[in-house]
Amino acid sequence: MIDLKEHPHRRLNPLTGDWVLVSPHRTKRPWQGQVEKVARETRATYDPSCYLCPGNERAGGHKNPAYTGTFAFTNDFAALLPSSPVDELDPHPLLRAEGVSGICRVICFSPRHDLTLAEMGVEEIRGVVDTWTDQYSELIHTPGIGYVQIFENRGAMMGCSNPHPHCQIWASSAVPTEIAKEQAAQEAYLREHGRTLLADYLEYEVATGERLVCVNEHFVALVPWWAVWPFETMVISRRPVSGLDELSSDERDGLSDILKQLTTRYDNLFEISFPYSGGFHQRPAGSNKEAWHLHAHYHPPLLRSATVRKFLVGYEMLAMPQRDITPEAAALRLRELSAVHFKSRV
Ligand code: ZN
Repeated sequence: MIDLKEHPHRRLNPLTGDWVLVSPHRTKRPWQGQVEKVARETRATYDPSCYLCPGNERAGGHKNPAYTGTFAFTNDFAALLPSSPVDELDPHPLLRAEGVSGICRVICFSPRHDLTLAEMGVEEIRGVVDTWTDQYSELIHTPGIGYVQIFENRGAMMGCSNPHPHCQIWASSAVPTEIAKEQAAQEAYLREHGRTLLADYLEYEVATGERLVCVNEHFVALVPWWAVWPFETMVISRRPVSGLDELSSDERDGLSDILKQLTTRYDNLFEISFPYSGGFHQRPAGSNKEAWHLHAHYHPPLLRSATVRKFLVGYEMLAMPQRDITPEAAALRLRELSAVHFKSRV
């Protein structure tokens, strides 16, 4: 009999069909690396050289308005262009290409250069949730758009070049790979069980509690059974809605609250502004609303300290992802952290 706390094993991600190798016995080996203490960063509330701060100039001579809440604009260096051709070009049956058109936008969360989601108030986060919802509603109904990806890259470690709190939206004609995998799994599950995959998963997780991080009336944040990154989490709506546009006003408040709780715990883990890539998965255009269940994924790279990060290299790059600390141990650590941000503690 395998003991999940002791024996190497692999776990299946039912949303994608991917496996992750878990090696819990390795957490018992001594850690030789140095644990560095990181100096607390302090940033000004306004930076005259930041292209996202209110009133400042961006590339191409665009000037930001003196915005006071959130601010959305078309990315000046967009990876996708609205009018590019979408036909196929296949020089050989093995060599396929397909044009992808789309719209890329940037959303500033706050005029304040020094804040992060974790340090914003729940009411301010609600403003961000409303903007995400408006953007999704508009773009998913735009002709030629197949999928709307909202994502945040936080921290220099994640390759984010500007600390001003912001996220990106890439709305594309094509449905991206991860979404296509999750769509296939969720549609198959609905056909077989008549419920969403994540409704049944959530029911089990809430009943056992082992991998929960924080919860409220409308949302649950947990470390998924199949987590790859050490402190990877998912935020899942309790009601099986297919997108942000189906949330009630109370549920949007619930989402704002759970994001505040989760990102605060993340920051408290190593007492830094915690880096991650995170974003929402929701229904593509024209897909089955019954099958899709709104959720967000957070993939933080940090492992043991503010400076020791996990890399997906070696075996992971060539064979499959692997982790040492179990998802249950990671969830316990996050769950036990304070819900009060370390910077606001006296
Ligand atoms: Zn997903």
